[in-house]
Amino acid sequence: MSTQDSTKLYCSICKRRTKGFKNRSGLQRHETLKHVSYNTLPSHVRSVPNSELSHLKKTIIKELQKRLKNHHTAVGKQVFSIHCSEDAFVSIFKNHITRYSPCGSSYFCSFKGEKAFEEVGKILDDENWGERNYGGGQLSFVRLHMPEVENSNYEQSAKKSKTKSLVNGEMTVQWKVTGGKDKENHKFEAGSAQFRFFLDQCQI
Ligand SMILES: [Zn+2]
Repeated sequence: MSTQDSTKLYCSICKRRTKGFKNRSGLQRHETLKHVSYNTLPSHVRSVPNSELSHLKKTIIKELQKRLKNHHTAVGKQVFSIHCSEDAFVSIFKNHITRYSPCGSSYFCSFKGEKAFEEVGKILDDENWGERNYGGGQLSFVRLHMPEVENSNYEQSAKKSKTKSLVNGEMTVQWKVTGGKDKENHKFEAGSAQFRFFLDQCQI
């Protein structure tokens, strides 16, 4: 440790000592380049009572269902956020976190593929979490899987619309601290989970 420069930031993931970084954005860049699949959860996460987790799961489903609209103009990318603690987020999504960034204190999950809908249903304790039935066979739902044939068309249109790293047939969940500070350096920040998904509709 004696050789470390106290004015610099060091990567907490690298096993071997590496050069320090002048600022957080340098360290964040390094993490994104070198440790994009790092998902060892930090030891400071505490367990949360099941009753709290159950409430949070219901909150997620409620906010999501509100966005499963019936009108055809609603089809497409949807985004919403809910406030929740790091402890609660990790308790719910722990086995599905694909990336943890110690520098940014952020977590990332992605759900896609044939089994993903069922998988999220198990996490949220509700198998109908991502679909809303409007009667008369009309269904609005979160699309987590694209049939082979349509896939290439959707990917092309996703590229055209410059959608950031999200294609139709995927839901991403990211937890991070959001907020700001005033001129007196009074911070107002809280943890927040952002959900991004594609809403689709069909006739059943
Ligand atoms: Zn590193």
